[in-house]
Amino acid sequence: MSVQRTLAIIKPDVVEKRQQGVVLQRILDEGFRVLAMRQARLSRQAVEGFYAVHRGKPFFDELCDFMSRGPVVLLALERENAVAHWRAVIGATNPANAEPGTIRKELGSSVGENAVHGSDSEENGARECDYFFAGVDQA
Ligand code: ATP
Ligand code: MG
Repeated sequence: MSVQRTLAIIKPDVVEKRQQGVVLQRILDEGFRVLAMRQARLSRQAVEGFYAVHRGKPFFDELCDFMSRGPVVLLALERENAVAHWRAVIGATNPANAEPGTIRKELGSSVGENAVHGSDSEENGARECDYFFAGVDQA
């Protein structure tokens, strides 16, 4: 294991419910170092670029509509084993299948509106942090 970076996104459903603080406190309690954080309203084009790997899938339009419908909170996080640890904390993609105590179980409402994002590999963690926070290496 090694120190890694992962990108977390607090999605629009959580911001609409004013529960960003719940997720941020969990991030801190789990020992992540916050390298960078900002709220942003993502354009549809930015979301399409970020989730480009899913282009062409049946849920792509719904995903892009959802992620661009209101503000999100972007966080570049660092921790030992950050990618796997954050994905364990957030739980399965579909909140109905997520373990008790995970963020998606507690805050997610459907497979589409599932509260938070987490990078899925060390390489993508670094790439996604750079996508939103160019130069975060220097943080
Ligand atoms: P994320 O990348 O947002 O952290 P994930 O890695 O758990 O989620 P992916 O397979 O990368 O899951 O899917 C990206 C997002 O697309 C999911 O978070 C979810 O919001 C949406 N999604 C995935 N599968 C479906 C589906 N079958 N129906 C509706 N939305 C879906
Ligand atoms: Mg994913």
